Amino acid sequence: MARKKFQFKAETKQLLDLMINSIYTNREIFLRELISNASDALDKLRYEALTNKELLGDNLKYEIRLLPDATNHTLTIIDTGIGMSKEDLIDNIGTIAKSGTKAFMTKLQEAQENKEATTDKEMIGQFGVGFYSAFMVADQVSIVSRKAGEDIAYKWQSTGDGSFTIEESESKLIGTEITLQLASEFFGEGAELNLTDTSTLQHLVKKYSDYVRYPIKMDFTVEETPKDEAGKPLENAEKTVRVETRTLNSMQPLWSKNKKDIKQEEYDELYKSLFHDWEAPLTTLHTKAEGTVEYTSLLFIPSHAPFNLYHTDYEPGLQLYSRHVFIMNKCKDLLPDYLRFVQGLVDSPDLSLNISRELLQQDRQLKLIGKNLEKNVLSALTKMLTNEREKYEKFWQEFGRSIKIGVYNSVYGAQETLDKLKDLLLFATSSDTNKLSSLKEYKERMPETQKKIYYANGKDRQSIEHLPQMELLRDKGIEVLYLYDPVDEFALEVLNEYDKVPFQSISRGDLGLDDVETQEKQKKIDDIAKTNEDLLKDIKAVLGDKIAEAHLSNRLKSSAVCLVAAAEGPSLAMEQAFAATEQHMFKAKRILELNPEHDLFSRLQKIHETEKDSDDFKDYCQLLYDQALLIEGIMPDDPIAFADKVARLMSK
Ligand code: ADP
Ligand code: MG
Repeated sequence: MARKKFQFKAETKQLLDLMINSIYTNREIFLRELISNASDALDKLRYEALTNKELLGDNLKYEIRLLPDATNHTLTIIDTGIGMSKEDLIDNIGTIAKSGTKAFMTKLQEAQENKEATTDKEMIGQFGVGFYSAFMVADQVSIVSRKAGEDIAYKWQSTGDGSFTIEESESKLIGTEITLQLASEFFGEGAELNLTDTSTLQHLVKKYSDYVRYPIKMDFTVEETPKDEAGKPLENAEKTVRVETRTLNSMQPLWSKNKKDIKQEEYDELYKSLFHDWEAPLTTLHTKAEGTVEYTSLLFIPSHAPFNLYHTDYEPGLQLYSRHVFIMNKCKDLLPDYLRFVQGLVDSPDLSLNISRELLQQDRQLKLIGKNLEKNVLSALTKMLTNEREKYEKFWQEFGRSIKIGVYNSVYGAQETLDKLKDLLLFATSSDTNKLSSLKEYKERMPETQKKIYYANGKDRQSIEHLPQMELLRDKGIEVLYLYDPVDEFALEVLNEYDKVPFQSISRGDLGLDDVETQEKQKKIDDIAKTNEDLLKDIKAVLGDKIAEAHLSNRLKSSAVCLVAAAEGPSLAMEQAFAATEQHMFKAKRILELNPEHDLFSRLQKIHETEKDSDDFKDYCQLLYDQALLIEGIMPDDPIAFADKVARLMSK
């Protein structure tokens, strides 16, 4: 094959420019990235070899080598992994196919558009943009690779200027060899980061790649003074020089050590390098289990949620090892979906290495381990809530939504899980603007006379506090939970009650207040309703299908109207949440409630008495309804008609 030139895809070019030109200080991480790719390639080969013995033979070697060359100013990283075919080189290296990299670009652009202060460094750490980081230290990068099972090797070469070339290369061992032609700042005695210096490289490997499961080897030149028989250096003897190959990384998996001997920093470093995070985890859970199933698990709750946690492109799952040998990267069957934010690994001698994905899914052992892990995570969170409130609230900020989804998803799950989850929920409440409250804490504050746990929906504190329905509860000094996320109400709906106290939306059904004052007021309202039966009927007639009924309200004080949903069926907030996902079949049964003590009501009565068939009466009804919608944050069905009617009434 003749040498052929290709252009980078536009995004790749952009990323390259960023890599090369950004004022990115931490350039040394390129080595971590290239070693991590090499380690991935070795994992892939190992996996292939498990399932495809004939093709690959048993004679495989698994290692990574660093080859610095001070004379030619190059650094070469060699792995005996799966290798890349010509197509692989074009697809994987020439384009940004990987969702993480693409997401990185999008995020970066967003940050630039919003003039966010996020530095490139943080962003690169977050996404681990991988291979392209080589251009941070190199003027030219060449890859020679031969894929396992193929005869021909290919050479890929680029100076990062927008194009790359590919040509056939002499056949060699399976694997990949990446040679960096170092940029002038990265070699030579005076260089701040001298990448042809063995001790510098050794230090970088220790720092970033110590736990890589394959040996990372490098040759060292050792100078020695010959010694006499007693071991004393011989005077005047000429020094000898020999080459010694050393393995730079310890390879001992941290989790196989005794918990007592591990420092938190060591956990942190492992977490960062295994899961490509720049921030240490919020919590680390290291467990050794013996009994029906034997395993070690090392789980991490990250300090921040990945931006795509709830998107379909997020891949949840834990790493799986058997006797320290890596089996697979994202085993989904180990944790329930709502705990998708948990990172970590499970190492179990009970798992057979020779398993295909399908078998894995049915593995009983795996299910058993999974149950235990869920329990571990939940009890760690429960403990954190009790003992480290501040930390828990940070967790809640990042992953609270997952817990709510967990509640929602466990409708058909174990009661035991639900019982734990319900105590992990936190809400904003009317009692304190700064503090979040658990359901338990709310209940402890509840006066004995209060029979329900009240909650309100809205996009934020302010819009909830302005809801007309809030006024009465505020007057009566009843605490209300504030629900800002549509998932909240679904979660409460699933729970139905907390510790035998039912939940009650302030915008749904009967509030269930039974103090003397409320009862007296209700009696009065019932009387007014009787004498105004026709009026209420006619309002309903004008509004037709838009509402199920028009009522007189006992939950309003100074406002004229509000819209509530019937006790059964979805609430208005739920209806809106479904509508946002294009599922319009969930409709709340809307009830228009009027305040009989409001001036507007007497006005309505008057118009109704004298001219109930007039356009004015119809306009009033329509306007009241539209107003009630607006208060709930819902657009009137016909905003222009609404504005016209207001204008007409105003100019009368
Ligand atoms: P990531 O490692 O996150 O997928 P990279 O930019 O680091 O992203 O690498 C892009 C892709 O190039 C890898 O997914 C892999 O397919 C391929 N690749 C990179 N380095 C190697 C290597 N040493 N051996 C085999 N394939 C590699
Ligand atoms: Mg990579």
